[in-house]
Amino acid sequence: MTRLNFTVEAKCNGTRARAAHFTALHGKVKTPVFMPVGTRATVKGQTIESLKATGAQVLLANTYHLLLRPGPEVFRKFGGIHRFMNWDGPVLTDSGGFQIFSLHRDREMNEEGARFQSYIDGKTFMLTPELSIDTQKAIGSDIMMVLDQCIPSTAGYEEAKTAMELTHRWAVRSLAARGDSPQSLFGIVQGACHHDLRLQSAAFLRQLPFDGLAIGGLAVGETSAERYEFTGLVTEQLPDNLPRYLMGVGTPIDILEAVHRGVDMFDCIIPSQLGHRGTVFTSHGKIQLRRSVYKFADEPLDSQCDCYTCKNYSRAYLYHLMKSDEPLGWHLLTTHNLAFYHRLMAEMRAAIFDGSFSAYYEKMRVELVRDDEANPGTPPRRNVPKVARLGDYEVHQHSAGFSSIKQVSSGEIMHSVNRPSDEANRLYIEQSHLADRLLKIEGDADELVIWDVGLGAASNAMAAVACFEKTLAEQGNDNLRRLRLISFECDLDPLKLACRVNKNFPHLHHGAPFKLLETGKWEHDSGLCIWELVKGDFLEYFMSTPAPKLIFFDPFSAKTDSALWTRETFARIFAHCRSADSELYTYSTSTAVRVALLSAGFYVAPGAASGPKESTTVAFTQLHGASRHPAAFSLLGSEWLARWHRSGSKFPDGLNDAEKQNFAALIENHPQFSLKSAAI
Ligand SMILES: [Zn+2]
Repeated sequence: MTRLNFTVEAKCNGTRARAAHFTALHGKVKTPVFMPVGTRATVKGQTIESLKATGAQVLLANTYHLLLRPGPEVFRKFGGIHRFMNWDGPVLTDSGGFQIFSLHRDREMNEEGARFQSYIDGKTFMLTPELSIDTQKAIGSDIMMVLDQCIPSTAGYEEAKTAMELTHRWAVRSLAARGDSPQSLFGIVQGACHHDLRLQSAAFLRQLPFDGLAIGGLAVGETSAERYEFTGLVTEQLPDNLPRYLMGVGTPIDILEAVHRGVDMFDCIIPSQLGHRGTVFTSHGKIQLRRSVYKFADEPLDSQCDCYTCKNYSRAYLYHLMKSDEPLGWHLLTTHNLAFYHRLMAEMRAAIFDGSFSAYYEKMRVELVRDDEANPGTPPRRNVPKVARLGDYEVHQHSAGFSSIKQVSSGEIMHSVNRPSDEANRLYIEQSHLADRLLKIEGDADELVIWDVGLGAASNAMAAVACFEKTLAEQGNDNLRRLRLISFECDLDPLKLACRVNKNFPHLHHGAPFKLLETGKWEHDSGLCIWELVKGDFLEYFMSTPAPKLIFFDPFSAKTDSALWTRETFARIFAHCRSADSELYTYSTSTAVRVALLSAGFYVAPGAASGPKESTTVAFTQLHGASRHPAAFSLLGSEWLARWHRSGSKFPDGLNDAEKQNFAALIENHPQFSLKSAAI
């Protein structure tokens, strides 16, 4: 009888996979089991509660690190690691051999042990099998490991043979040092990638009274095919009645392959190490969360995962945390990865019990190596033209030879059909007769205020600036009113991007947009034109700016930015601008937008055609606004009203029947329609 009372509960026909349990000093463990690595008596970024919630049964701690700090005397004072770190489940400690042989180039080793200097205080240690066991006893782990000489798995035969033989002698000394301690002790099979050495090592160790046997010296340089081959070779030689532990392995696919070959226990730093880098394992493949495709992703990491992270956070938030190097990101991603590993172990165990492991193995060996399925990585750069990009925006090259800015998340392109400067001139500058309005006539010398709603890449604003400069050159300083142009924008990335590649955007060949980005304001040398930036949500800030004569209303479409196109929004604008006798110009021709403007009190007329669009929309706060222009606008009339009556979507969303009736009455009784008979 071994100290662990290891009991095989089920075996898989056709593979060597098995489900078992054993009882350690601090509780029962069900296998196959994955042991999170708590190097310095902590699994990085995890609390005991989060570890338990993800399904951890056993933790691994590193004797080498704990020997150097805090030192065995601290564990002796606390009565062991369990009370020290507040973990009441089983703990396995390694022997320290791996770290000494892989980290210390200047160690000296002989038959007795390995001499090395502490990286913390320079103190010299002679790590012998006896000191290793003594330290592990002080730590109070449930399962101790023998000190072994670790060499690369690619080592030559003689080197591997010498190291294996020393490891065997140290194994015997370790057992003697363990004595009658109730702590379990595992031997470690060595022999690098040499068949006969591995067989010799397994045969030697199985004769000794160990409580379990480990496979060491893999996952340190060999190919995965070699790893699988030697894992299978060794497990065949190991007794059925002892747990088998594959040290330091590995990725989910490595673990699946090893369980298939009869391994019971695993440890690896991959879940937390990859979590730290932003990589997570999911049921849809491996995801790299630092990729900007997740910036707006509202879904959980893995819809099929019930871990704390997946239940509470979006990919977008996790992306943000990773981009900001926030420790919480590391914690949340590691939490998910650990849950993924523990779930994989539990699924394998369940499949072994119900006889479906072979099928599960075939399915998972494909699934576990998938990359991000929903968002495959970008193809090699050399094959794709470089796209200028900033934040959520990129430069869109139009086939007609001009550039626009595209919002990546919505796919919406600013000025998708017409050259941006042409559209700005036609819709906003010419229709509003801006050049005439800049002149000091009409007995009106007040400043002319324009709202530029949706600065974007500044096409409309710069068209206004260009119009001002042209008019100034033609008419002279004395004849012009002051122009005050107020641009509203919550995201300056489109303008920053366009300025960065401004050879594609001729309207930006001017100092004004650069100055605006830099200081939020630009003023013409004449003092007659001032351009201001209001950064933030238009709906929040427009009330604190003076009511304009002209509104260039050019935000993203209702589909992308619905709040700007509601009747509530237009009603607020109307209330603020009514007395200013304002005109609003916009590219939209949608019935919903026109009816929203009408219900808010505006007088509405079709505007100039633009590109393939037969018309656009102009709205006035005063009836006489429409007739002010040389070519008077003709307001929407009975024909349009009849069309609206027939429209399937003539009411704003969310109205009940009574409200619909009121709304219909509001539109039908709009003075624009009742006055229609009188010539305007
Ligand atoms: Zn999860």
